[in-house]
Amino acid sequence: MKEKKLEKTSKENKEKEVTEPVKKVPQTPQTLRGMKDILPADQGYWWLVFDKVRSLAKTYGFEKIDTPLLEESGLFVRSVGKDTDIVEKEMYIFEDLDGQKLALRPEATASIMRAYLNHGMWNLPQPIKAWYFGPMFRHERPQSGRYRQFHQFGFEILGEAGPVADALIIMIAYNFYAEMGVNASIQINSLGCPVCRENYKNELTQYYKTNRSKICESCKKRLVKNPLRLLDCKEPGCLPIKETAPQMIEFLCDDCKTHFMSVLEFLDELGLPYFLNHNLVRGLDYYTRTVFEIYSTGDDEGSQAALGGGGRYDLLSEVLGGKPTPACGFAHGVERAIAKVKEAGQVVPETIKADIFIAQLGEQARRKAFTLFEKFRHTGVKVAESFCRSSLRGQLEQADKLGARYALIVGQKEVQDGSVIIRDMESGVQEMVDFNKAVAEIQKKLLLI
Ligand code: AMP
Repeated sequence: MKEKKLEKTSKENKEKEVTEPVKKVPQTPQTLRGMKDILPADQGYWWLVFDKVRSLAKTYGFEKIDTPLLEESGLFVRSVGKDTDIVEKEMYIFEDLDGQKLALRPEATASIMRAYLNHGMWNLPQPIKAWYFGPMFRHERPQSGRYRQFHQFGFEILGEAGPVADALIIMIAYNFYAEMGVNASIQINSLGCPVCRENYKNELTQYYKTNRSKICESCKKRLVKNPLRLLDCKEPGCLPIKETAPQMIEFLCDDCKTHFMSVLEFLDELGLPYFLNHNLVRGLDYYTRTVFEIYSTGDDEGSQAALGGGGRYDLLSEVLGGKPTPACGFAHGVERAIAKVKEAGQVVPETIKADIFIAQLGEQARRKAFTLFEKFRHTGVKVAESFCRSSLRGQLEQADKLGARYALIVGQKEVQDGSVIIRDMESGVQEMVDFNKAVAEIQKKLLLI
């Protein structure tokens, strides 16, 4: 009988297996390729960089502008240039529910210029000195130091044509690294104005046409679409051709040459380490005259990983329908900056130190501790807590970690007595005080009154 029942049960089970759908374990979504979470352990470095940028901005009189992450895609197509890698291959473009073509911003200069034009900032005393800090998006092949969502900070000077603006921008870009303890150097070039650049482009195109059989397939395309980018090619086969290519500097018109020489004189005066790089063209169409990049001096030669770069973009305003507005700026990559800052052994200031720590034992005590915490918060005393913990030992360990000089302990008994224990964290000596006098007592101990 027993056996029969067993038999039936296993049969039933089999039926169940067939009819009941297999329960699927839901898969945890992952971050997208090339995008990453910035976890608490790293946040100290982000603050370190942000604080340094903010302090440089304050020193040099720059004001912050935040622009939206989403813009009309046309803004970047027109400014960065339709034949650039960013626009051709890397932009996140999509249509929204209204059928508008939008792009996640791949960089911020175009947005800053748009904001300048939209808000009539040309009516304000010039130049406008702006800075920004935030995420950018490029659909690149992720690798070390190259992400699809990354962050940049940048400084822009709008409405100033003089070489002093170029020099100021380069100096700030360089000073950021110098003050972070990172050895950096500057590579610089001039791309001239549309007139002298056109002459140069023709000469460069002629030169590459005569060498067409020796260059890579990408360069053959660049030759037709964007000849200046020929100088960007890193293919070993193209390097000898690039080495003997005509140089822009030989083609600069008098005004562009004077401007460039003047920028270099500023850099000489400041003693900044710069190198002329005739092949530096940058990947964006809006540049005119000065272009520069900042490299870490420890990096391998030929490393493609510039820490940041920038230059002058005198024609961008007109491209976007504004009136002529000379401008220049730079952008640094925050992730790359943080990697260098870590390599340089910069120490992140520890998490907020506390003067006192409020510990509690039991539900009622926890409620009392809440009110005590709020009382202290308004007094200027640095107060910390760990309300989610119940063990007193764990709380005192946390108080120790935060360097608190006193722990205020509220337990069941203290709730009933209307008191609180003040524990000297160094000596371990404890005393009982009236709950309502705890703030004054601590202020006295910390010599605040
Ligand atoms: P660009 O706007 O291309 O001149 O880039 C300026 C700086 O932004 C670079 O030197 C990098 O430090 C940083 N950067 C650009 N693209 C990326 C990326 N895909 N991932 C991380 N950092 C980037």
